[in-house]
Amino acid sequence: MENKTILVIEDNALNMKLIRVLIGIGNYQTIEAIDAETGIKLVREHQPDLILMDLQLPGMDGLTATRIIKEDPISKEIPIIALTSYAMEGDEEGAVEAGCAGYITKPIDTRSFLDTIARYFKHNVPNDDSLKETK
Ligand code: MN
Repeated sequence: MENKTILVIEDNALNMKLIRVLIGIGNYQTIEAIDAETGIKLVREHQPDLILMDLQLPGMDGLTATRIIKEDPISKEIPIIALTSYAMEGDEEGAVEAGCAGYITKPIDTRSFLDTIARYFKHNVPNDDSLKETK
């Protein structure tokens, strides 16, 4: 049973709904924010295990929010996956430069989504006993 918490910062209601369903299937807890300012506040309050960051947000953009989260000692170790738009060329490079561990391109591929997320958890917790085979 997974009890990891994922913070999703996404202003598009349909994308948020889809991500919520997928994360629920993966048995993770979801925390949601529809703008970067709220998202940064929730990072500090909840210390999530992973952050999904939309890059295009009202007010502060996702790259700026990523830099702020990565500069803060309390949150710098939390992996951030950027949610980038297929149409926005160059977003991926910008996301990695800002400190994102990787990116997921929208529209989201529902079949690979959970596998992709799981990979970033593993990078974060390389010594996690739950990953070892049990006899
Ligand atoms: Mn957006």
